[in-house]
Amino acid sequence: MSGISVDKIKCIGCGLCVKACPFGAITLVDKKAVIDLDKCTLCGSCVETCNKVHAIEIVRESTQTPDIEKYKGVWVYAEQRKGVVQSVTYELLGKARELADKLNVEVGCVLLGSNVKDKAQELVARGADIVYVVDDPKLEHFLDEPYARIVSNLVRKHRPEILLSPATSIGRSVISRVAVQLRVGLTADCTALDVDPNERFLMQTRPAFGGNIMATILSKNHRPQLSTVRHKVMKEAVADSSRQGRIEVLEFDRSFFASRTKVLQVINEVTSTVNIAEANIIVSGGRALGNSENFKILEDLAKVLNGAVGASRAAIDEGWIPYSHQVGQTGKTVCPNIYIACGISGQIQHLVGMQSSDVIIAINRDPSAPIFNVASYGIVGDLFEVVPLLTKRFEEVLK
Ligand SMILES: Cc1cc2nc3c(=O)[nH]c(=O)nc-3n(C[C@H](O)[C@H](O)[C@H](O)COP(=O)(O)OP(=O)(O)OC[C@H]3O[C@@H](n4cnc5c(N)ncnc54)[C@H](O)[C@@H]3O)c2cc1C
Repeated sequence: MSGISVDKIKCIGCGLCVKACPFGAITLVDKKAVIDLDKCTLCGSCVETCNKVHAIEIVRESTQTPDIEKYKGVWVYAEQRKGVVQSVTYELLGKARELADKLNVEVGCVLLGSNVKDKAQELVARGADIVYVVDDPKLEHFLDEPYARIVSNLVRKHRPEILLSPATSIGRSVISRVAVQLRVGLTADCTALDVDPNERFLMQTRPAFGGNIMATILSKNHRPQLSTVRHKVMKEAVADSSRQGRIEVLEFDRSFFASRTKVLQVINEVTSTVNIAEANIIVSGGRALGNSENFKILEDLAKVLNGAVGASRAAIDEGWIPYSHQVGQTGKTVCPNIYIACGISGQIQHLVGMQSSDVIIAINRDPSAPIFNVASYGIVGDLFEVVPLLTKRFEEVLK
């Protein structure tokens, strides 16, 4: 058990720990520090301040995964929707293959769903050496409890050292529960992954502090090392139909499918343009659009270019367009051939979601807007004049 204690003899009642505690968990009683264990999170700030008399001590329980060296292999959680394996899975398989080759181990893949058995061969073609399939009508709709329970069970049994999952709403939901069930850490939204072949640590790089720095995170004491990766950050593995692999179709007893939630109805979002994660051209709008009706001019341009409409968080927060269109740190990461930013200032949280686009065209009436720093082409002007002119010209040229 972890815990914290104050040595009353050493404590001199200086009160530094009271000031240092971010949770207001320490008070002085009779000039001695007293810690409220309901408020204390064992963050250690008080221990650092009490560095002269060392009156406060934290004892931490060792939670290191036992037999850590027995964990071998790189796994991918294969996401499917309505029986279709999502392309982000192939992106993860490409990276998993690269990591596994460096570690000299196999690539495993977990595929859960209903009527999905026949999709396993494609996962082999994309780099998996072994695919564990659980194909059951009870898995037709995604439910986080049974999905996470089954993945955790497979991990406990086969002990992969690395498990990668898409950073989609489904992937995030499954893998965070798996992390809790296995009592291991999870690094979310990685933008780069590599391994140290000697120590076998997964080097998980992700933006930190609002995207201003890139942090590389190691999970030294726990296995598996869990990471989520956003769509379009890594290159898809190329299919090779001659690849050989093993496919194990597994059965689980009823208790694994128990769930406190049930799906009553599935309502598909109605959208007249392409999904931004799949689009080669995205026309995005920001706060400058002013209302939802004005997004029509972006839709018109997107339609002519066979593209999708994206948006900044400012436009989403105003309720002008659904969240599924949001680009950025708390939205989607996109990497289209052409990204047209209309009336978007270019704050870092937006840029992290689109700056790897091949060509960026920025339309903004403020010549000093930061979006121009990442733009391949900039148009300084009023989007309400520029966008309809572009639509008209593209219509003529592409006819
Ligand atoms: C934790 C966190 C996460 C976040 N996640 C995201 C995220 O995922 N995605 C995201 O986008 N933001 C995110 N944000 C918000 C982000 O910081 C910005 O507030 C947001 O991106 C600003 O949106 P905007 O550029 O549309 O609006 P503004 O910054 O207000 O910019 C509007 C721009 O439009 C220009 N303009 C005005 N009128 C016209 C016109 N008629 N013609 C042409 N140009 C015009 C202005 O010059 C200005 O540059 C996040 C913030 C935080 C704190």
